[in-house]
Amino acid sequence: MISTEAYKLLIEELKPTNTTLVAVSKTKPVEDISALYELGQRYFGENYVQELVDKEAILPKDIRWHFIGHLQSNKVKYIAPFVHLIHGVDSYKLLQEINKQAAKYNRTINCLLQVHIAQEETKFGFDEAELEQLFSSDFSSLTHINIVGMMGMASFSEDKEKVGSEFQHLKSLFNQYKTINTANCQLSIISMGMSGDYALAIHEGSTMVRIGSLLFGNR
Ligand SMILES: *Cc1c(COP(=O)(O)O)cnc(C)c1O
Repeated sequence: MISTEAYKLLIEELKPTNTTLVAVSKTKPVEDISALYELGQRYFGENYVQELVDKEAILPKDIRWHFIGHLQSNKVKYIAPFVHLIHGVDSYKLLQEINKQAAKYNRTINCLLQVHIAQEETKFGFDEAELEQLFSSDFSSLTHINIVGMMGMASFSEDKEKVGSEFQHLKSLFNQYKTINTANCQLSIISMGMSGDYALAIHEGSTMVRIGSLLFGNR
């Protein structure tokens, strides 16, 4: 069951901030996605390849699917025909594979680089040195990808200062590289903020929030 009330409040809250809402529907049934779609939502985020493929097949074609999970190279081919934005790109190798699969479908796939900003060891993503290495490498031959921004996940913590400073860190890395303007790289999106920390993320400069449980209930 979705919360229509929570959705409407959230839309009102986000409107003046110009933040894009990605409704995170992982593990939730297609009925819930349809219900939110009926209210006007078009961006949905999923974490698991098979689940995304199954849902995409039956839901309306004007949904823009965001892949927000950890993507294995060998699974890119399944989502390449339709995915709108991949949030969790965390290696050059993955970029190459996305490029290769996108080419097969004559598409250009938008990608966000996932940056490791949390102190927790378990989160995926580039660290600062790896980002620098990527941006100093020549990826101009990857003509079927478009690097459009960065994504990060803060620590799962009640400590607002800690979470806020992790978001600030992402924002400052974004600022550092946003002057790059090449055919396949122009950074405009900062994807940060989930149900528990989206207000803080927006305060620190997020342009895209990924919200699940607030809309769909706990998983
Ligand atoms: C599940 C998930 C979300 C949404 O989390 P909620 O706390 O339910 O809003 C956002 N981003 C990523 C990467 C996720 O895996």
